[in-house]
Amino acid sequence: MDFQLTPEQQRLQRKCLELAADFATRSAVHDRDASHPVENYNRLREEGFLALTIGAEWGGAGASFLDHTIAYEALGQGCPSTALAFNMHASVVMPLLESAEVSAETKRRLVELVVRQRKLIAGNFSEPVTTSLLGERPLKTRASRANGGYRVTGRKMFASMLEAADFVLVMAYPDEATSPSAAMILMLPRMAEGRRAEPDWDVLGMRATRSDSLVLEECWVPEDAAVYRSEDMRPFRHANLNWFWGSYTPVYLGVAQAAFDELRRVVHARRPEGYAQPLAYHADVRRHVAEISAELEAARLITYRSAWLSDTQGPTPETTAALYRAKYMVGAAVSRITRTALTLGGAHGIFKTSRLEQLFRDGALGPLHPPPSDFCLYNIGLYELGIDPADLMPPLKPA
Ligand SMILES: Cc1cc2nc3c(=O)[nH]c(=O)nc-3n(C[C@H](O)[C@H](O)[C@H](O)COP(=O)(O)OP(=O)(O)OC[C@H]3O[C@@H](n4cnc5c(N)ncnc54)[C@H](O)[C@@H]3O)c2cc1C
Repeated sequence: MDFQLTPEQQRLQRKCLELAADFATRSAVHDRDASHPVENYNRLREEGFLALTIGAEWGGAGASFLDHTIAYEALGQGCPSTALAFNMHASVVMPLLESAEVSAETKRRLVELVVRQRKLIAGNFSEPVTTSLLGERPLKTRASRANGGYRVTGRKMFASMLEAADFVLVMAYPDEATSPSAAMILMLPRMAEGRRAEPDWDVLGMRATRSDSLVLEECWVPEDAAVYRSEDMRPFRHANLNWFWGSYTPVYLGVAQAAFDELRRVVHARRPEGYAQPLAYHADVRRHVAEISAELEAARLITYRSAWLSDTQGPTPETTAALYRAKYMVGAAVSRITRTALTLGGAHGIFKTSRLEQLFRDGALGPLHPPPSDFCLYNIGLYELGIDPADLMPPLKPA
């Protein structure tokens, strides 16, 4: 197996690290204010990141899922919220462009918006009732036919960059559907009537993603706003787990790398009074740094391999298990690494002005960000034991 990044991947990584260095200069302010890093989104837009992974035949840059992984790991090192929220765009646009269930005409319109008009697209599938631990998405938001289009009513939650994006793709239950797993995805412009954001995103970490709630009251959209519809959306979700879930993993890997870099800077810079050497020379510090180095490299390799499998095999059971393994390992690594960095950073590191303090809070979301660690382990267990999920009892007593 070749572990060397190609020259194009190295160029992409360098570009993303450059952007990350710029984003890092404003990350603390956006974190403190929980404000949209709009200037970062605009920079990414100008640099072609809206169409990074869109196929060359559509006018995009044709980057692979592995390229995307390398890019978002680097972006995540600057302003984690910027990388996490901006990734929402690719994570919802790419499944639509790659799915055989989406018409060629819809794909053409989507490409026109994204590649030609450079529109930024958010995605809001979650609702207050969503639980990632069970991996199910019962939809309370309803779409009913009206006046040659659809009226959408419901309450969505956790909509990253909602008020900064040009459109949001909303998942709703079609009123006339009968199957419980039916769903449709509708594209709502930022200014649609009957749509408002509820700014409730006052949270621990990833504050600048501004993942607010979206309230829809009889919000009307034309027929062609419905970009996906199925009586059973589970195969669509499953076939695109790389984008829906796996594409966030490298952002948390980037958070872990940023904490490691900051920790090494801090222990080299801090020399206790009366000693000739900084804290980096202390044996315990060296040991912790070595442990982080090994853990980070393991998490990186497992993540890159999962992306490589996704590119080379598609959504096979092996790829899916690898994506879950990667998310689990990165979740564990980022929370341990940011915790250790904070501990070694000492009381000087817990001030609001400290980067370690922010990375600790951003990193804390790693294990719970969907797919959460327990859900990953649940699925890896099924894969390794060759168990069909249909043969299992529900994990909780049904109502
Ligand atoms: C940083 C971040 C960004 C995100 N961005 C997006 C996005 O852009 N778009 C998107 O669609 N999703 C987004 N998500 C949401 C994510 O995909 C999950 O759906 C979301 O986190 C909810 O799943 P959960 O398992 O965390 O739910 P939990 O909060 O664990 O809730 C589990 C279940 O318990 C119930 N519950 C929770 N609290 C209570 C209570 N006090 N009493 C009774 N019941 C309760 C809930 O209703 C739910 O059924 C984001 C999440 C994060 C962390």
